[in-house]
Amino acid sequence: MLRQPILLLSRSAQVKKLVSTLPVTSGVVTGYVPGETTDTAVDATRRLVDDGLEVTLDFLGEDTVDAAQAEATVAAYVEVLKALGAAGLTRHAEVSVKLSAIGQALPDHGHKVALENARTICRAARNAGTTVTLDMEDHTTTDSTLAILRDLRKDFPETGAVLQAYLHRTEDDCRSLAYEGSRVRLCKGAYNEPESVAFQDRVDVDKSYVRCLKILLAGDGYPMVATHDPRLVEIASSLASRYGRAQQTYEFQMLYGIRPTEQRRLAEGGDKVRVYVPYGGEWYGYLMRRLAERPQNLSFFLRSLISKK
Ligand SMILES: Cc1cc2nc3c(=O)[nH]c(=O)nc-3n(C[C@H](O)[C@H](O)[C@H](O)COP(=O)(O)OP(=O)(O)OC[C@H]3O[C@@H](n4cnc5c(N)ncnc54)[C@H](O)[C@@H]3O)c2cc1C
Repeated sequence: MLRQPILLLSRSAQVKKLVSTLPVTSGVVTGYVPGETTDTAVDATRRLVDDGLEVTLDFLGEDTVDAAQAEATVAAYVEVLKALGAAGLTRHAEVSVKLSAIGQALPDHGHKVALENARTICRAARNAGTTVTLDMEDHTTTDSTLAILRDLRKDFPETGAVLQAYLHRTEDDCRSLAYEGSRVRLCKGAYNEPESVAFQDRVDVDKSYVRCLKILLAGDGYPMVATHDPRLVEIASSLASRYGRAQQTYEFQMLYGIRPTEQRRLAEGGDKVRVYVPYGGEWYGYLMRRLAERPQNLSFFLRSLISKK
């Protein structure tokens, strides 16, 4: 497995310095991130919506250990939500938020700061006519993130959750969250997790994904099936018919730039398909996770670094 070495390499300060000097217009970056500004995010959203797709925007920035930076991230979300509202796009576009980017990792009161900041973003989303989904990060944050979700849902029940099939605990979390009105994104999981908490073998992760899918699709919530895996997409569609779910009572989600033809094919077949669109200056960690998932990308990436295009 190349994933672990790439994720380890991504923590090196020298690699980060080298990669971060790539312009955002470089092919390797624009393949996954449409740009750094609110305007580029709104433009990308409009193009996708015009193609019959839904969007969730992610302002990139994680592991904030500085309250001012967390506030700047909140301001960026408020700004993009207003811009989406002004552009008439909020019926089709929401935002995804990483709690670590809005203060969860701050010493002392991280949990409380992240909750208050998330509330501000949820309020801005509601004012603009849309919703927020809380991304899930590494397993040390799962309990805190689910506790913040529970608190937020008291005032903003439309707030979406994310569960990761690679964690042993996730089937139980699916059972707890499969209730009416509960929006739950199921993904495989993108972090480098230890054996004590997560399945290590891809086959075991896929089997867990199917078990979780069954719980969510048989339940009363709104499942958001986030995967590019063709087998899992097919299994999700047939499970949905088995449980008598109409196409619009769940949705598929894929990342910007990954399997775009499949995104359109599903949408043309009547499925709701939401594209996760990351934007902003802090694209390094996101890019490295995507490269780690697909080692075939690595040679293209190394060539781009050498030619700095
Ligand atoms: C909408 C969305 C939101 C997500 N949110 C979170 C989150 O909050 N927390 C979290 O931990 N993870 C999140 N993820 C990432 C997820 O956990 C996986 O790491 C990622 O989706 C890859 O898994 P996969 O299900 O696509 O299956 P894989 O088995 O990894 O991939 C299946 C196929 O998809 C294609 N593919 C996959 N990745 C790439 C790539 N990088 N480049 C090119 N082709 C590729 C390939 O054809 C591959 O064979 C999210 C994913 C999506 C789609």
